[in-house]
Amino acid sequence: MNKIPFITKEQVEEIVKTYPTPFHIYDEKAIRANIRALKAAFAWNKGFHEYFAVKATPNPFILKIFQEEGCGTDCSSLTELMMSEACGFKGSDIMFSSNVTPACEYKKARELGAYINLDDITHIDFLEQAAGIPDTVFCRYNPGGVFKMGTDIMDNPGDAKYGMTKEQLVEAITRLKAKGVQKFGIHSFLASNTVTNEYYPELAGILFRLAVEVKERTNADISFINLSGGVGIPYEPGKEPNDIAVIGEGVRKKFEEILVPAGLGDVRVFTELGRFMCGPYGGLVTKAIHEKHIYKEYIGVDACAVNLMRPAMYGAYHHITVLGKENEPCNHKYDITGSLCENNDKFAIDRMLPEIQPGDYLFIHDTGAHGFAMGYNYNGKLKSAELLLKEDGSIQMIRRAETPEDYFATFDFCEIFKNH
Ligand SMILES: *Cc1c(COP(=O)(O)O)cnc(C)c1O
Repeated sequence: MNKIPFITKEQVEEIVKTYPTPFHIYDEKAIRANIRALKAAFAWNKGFHEYFAVKATPNPFILKIFQEEGCGTDCSSLTELMMSEACGFKGSDIMFSSNVTPACEYKKARELGAYINLDDITHIDFLEQAAGIPDTVFCRYNPGGVFKMGTDIMDNPGDAKYGMTKEQLVEAITRLKAKGVQKFGIHSFLASNTVTNEYYPELAGILFRLAVEVKERTNADISFINLSGGVGIPYEPGKEPNDIAVIGEGVRKKFEEILVPAGLGDVRVFTELGRFMCGPYGGLVTKAIHEKHIYKEYIGVDACAVNLMRPAMYGAYHHITVLGKENEPCNHKYDITGSLCENNDKFAIDRMLPEIQPGDYLFIHDTGAHGFAMGYNYNGKLKSAELLLKEDGSIQMIRRAETPEDYFATFDFCEIFKNH
């Protein structure tokens, strides 16, 4: 279970002749294979549909891959809706799972005919005023408390801002039904980045039982269960990844056990996966440009937290391979740092790696989801290009790197930067 980059040093040396480091690169073949594995795992459910969480990797070329493989998009902002629209997604191919939603976003979602997933009971009136109530509405459930599986606490829904209580959800569906809504979906997101085959089946059990209860209490047509995101990936080497076939089978068992006997065997199961769909199939390639020897050993690279924020933000582990030194002993302890004037701008702390020389290329693993996407422009640093390693082995630029002109573009109303 060692992590092996999907490109070699020789490939990177070729690529940098056209696209200098740093850049994110994605593996098209692996993304497609994984989508197919997901669909096969849920093929038992007639209406199964994956809505790729755009926020994970908001790039139209990536969205097109999902479209070609028969998936929709899951959006939670105006620009994510606009990107989906530009890619040709519409109607029931778009799930709008937002929270604290501005009126203009509900308008846009309605204009596209997207499925709307309400985060709160108070959004019923808000949506009605902003854009009108559609025929189909999803409601987001928050069970409160802590979410436990076995003896492990997975997450803390009671502290999360999302979703409605059960009583609110029942009341929301009753009110929406009175307003003419014909079909309902129930959605919940209880834990993030779960690396266990049990999470989705456990969540499915909760939502399927809830659907049966809601159906009994409201007589509403519960047509969809949206398991949302949260199926994760192992960032550390040596950890067993999720097996999507086992997960799909686990959800099927709950379906047979709970929904079928209740006469809800026609319910369609939806997912809104992001991390699981792209995370392992992207990497950040960066060049060592400095070494520094003070109280610790530092390697300075040409990427920084602007390109990948997870280590700085969450202390998240991202595995690093020094390209071309895959088989050398990891006998040097380094902090791998970016150039921000922030001491948390470190891709790795006290990491054992082969000896690194300036000019070496580092492959930072598992940046395909919530990687580039979380980028920002602190210190005036610019975001990198994104490249696609195509199925035929060629390289396609799918986003150019930012330039200073992009950074200064929001001053285009004034004279200061006109002549520069
Ligand atoms: C973030 C998010 C997702 C995707 O989550 P992953 O952990 O990337 O699978 C799906 N649905 C909603 C509503 C989200 O906020």
